[in-house]
Amino acid sequence: MFTIKKYVVVDSLEEAYELNQSRKANVLGGLLWMKMGKKTIQTAIDLSNLGLDKIEEKEDCFEIGAMVTLRDLETHEGLNKYFRGAIKNSVKSIVGVQFRNSATVGGSIFSRFGFSDPLTCFLALDSYVKLYKGGIIPMKEFVDMPYDNDILEKVIIKKDGRKIVYTSHRNISTDFPVLTCAVAKVDKKFEVAVGARPQRAALVLDEENILSENPTADEIQKFADYVASKLVFGSNMRASKEFRSHLCKVLVRRSINEIGGM
Ligand SMILES: Cc1cc2nc3c(=O)[nH]c(=O)nc-3n(C[C@H](O)[C@H](O)[C@H](O)COP(=O)(O)OP(=O)(O)OC[C@H]3O[C@@H](n4cnc5c(N)ncnc54)[C@H](O)[C@@H]3O)c2cc1C
Repeated sequence: MFTIKKYVVVDSLEEAYELNQSRKANVLGGLLWMKMGKKTIQTAIDLSNLGLDKIEEKEDCFEIGAMVTLRDLETHEGLNKYFRGAIKNSVKSIVGVQFRNSATVGGSIFSRFGFSDPLTCFLALDSYVKLYKGGIIPMKEFVDMPYDNDILEKVIIKKDGRKIVYTSHRNISTDFPVLTCAVAKVDKKFEVAVGARPQRAALVLDEENILSENPTADEIQKFADYVASKLVFGSNMRASKEFRSHLCKVLVRRSINEIGGM
């Protein structure tokens, strides 16, 4: 349980940013992660009055506000039509519907959890975060940036026509993932994001041109081995690093086969 001394529903992002510069202040998302902690929050900053709970489809991108819930991502028709259900697949195993109705995109992406399903999926898309002070930053940079006191305003995903497949492995449904994997094909090239290693998601590109446009089984196996060799895997209570490395090759192989068949 945590304790909040002062609760402020802000009227602007500037007000939220100013309040958040104190080390004892915290922005509130859906509170599902924060409520597991025990800290005392001097000033709790509620963004729910700022209209950040919308997914907007534009001609060249989707804009997803920080207060959009994981359930909104899961059920948004345009988003899932364009990315062939990959975004839905990345959140559908997170706990349960009631949980996903509260957990927010802002809380999930700003936290950059090592186990994050949506972070892995967004990393394999041409996506960006818009920070109130920091501006627009590519997800592939943001994922490794140190935490600061900025406010995540929205996530932007470009409509660049890529094909993407999202998979994860869990020991039991609704548990934290053992491994997360998103494979995308853009401009005839493949990109792979792998998370829950159990470190934060990382991106691997086919820099050695192992895969041809219509990859053979042999090329796919070589590329899966290459991806696993580029990443560091660790062990925890859910799985060993050896199992994670093996799983990575399996999920990459399956995903490329699925994309090839689309
Ligand atoms: C039991 C449990 C199981 C889970 N399982 C999974 C899983 O299997 N896969 C998975 O991917 N995730 C999982 N999660 C994580 C979950 O999906 C959310 O990512 C997490 O709860 C954070 O979202 P929230 O909206 O609850 O954020 P909060 O708990 O409200 O906030 C989390 C942090 O983000 C900060 N924050 C929130 N919004 C913003 C913003 N707009 N700008 C700047 N900072 C902000 C807060 O200050 C806080 O530090 C799990 C969480 C729990 C509690």
